[in-house]
Amino acid sequence: MTSAQKAIKKVFLDSDVFTACLHHCLTSEKEEVLGLLIGKVDEASFCHVLASIVMHRSDKQPDRVEISAPQLCIATAYADKLSVVLGESVRVIGWYHSHPHITVWPSHVDVNTQFTYQMLDSFVGLIFAVYQNDPGSAGNTVQLTCFQSVEDPTHPGRVVRKDIELQIVNKPMKLFNLKAIVDLPTILSQEETHPERPDQADVNDPLTFLFNEALETLTLVHIASRVAMPLLEGLEARLQSAKARLAELERSLPPSRPPPQ
Ligand SMILES: [Zn+2]
Repeated sequence: MTSAQKAIKKVFLDSDVFTACLHHCLTSEKEEVLGLLIGKVDEASFCHVLASIVMHRSDKQPDRVEISAPQLCIATAYADKLSVVLGESVRVIGWYHSHPHITVWPSHVDVNTQFTYQMLDSFVGLIFAVYQNDPGSAGNTVQLTCFQSVEDPTHPGRVVRKDIELQIVNKPMKLFNLKAIVDLPTILSQEETHPERPDQADVNDPLTFLFNEALETLTLVHIASRVAMPLLEGLEARLQSAKARLAELERSLPPSRPPPQ
């Protein structure tokens, strides 16, 4: 099979997946973050994205995002579980990553990574450009692009980006996507306490010990203040809006009659 046979005509991204990916992409203003997309491709070559999964960062270098084999296995197992929940077959269908403070367009590395994965099966790439300080707008703006990679017909052997049409589909929040958002602070905290970290028990110098403790505390405070708190506020607002909608629906119901004797 060639990459041309894997071409996707359009991507439909469920709004709750968009929210989950965006929450994840906004967690770091310095490093790029990465996740995988789960969904299906129909007979008309339309791609439907129904869920996402956060990938742990193995290398926290700027502009360095990689899909590792063990993480791909975890995502595949998650897709199998979701197939049971949804009652239809879904699989890993793409990837997303963030571009904090840089352009939304995929780098050469991104285009080549995309090309490698779409050789295996239909696969799409999303990029969320976050913390864009647009002088014409108030606050930070977010840009989103969807792409695949194709061989450049004028330069054999060279791979270039192909933009794919993307539509965000308004859907109620699915429980597993809500859980993906709620789990974010836990995942980020685990990344900070991974096994390769130098063990504080081996540090003899009290100043170094204090310094390491302070650094770790600072990171956890950052996760709490920049991730957990806004998340909590967002969930509170969602709860209030759901309660208001429920009250509105209850008011629109006809008055209940007493049960027949
Ligand atoms: Zn990139």
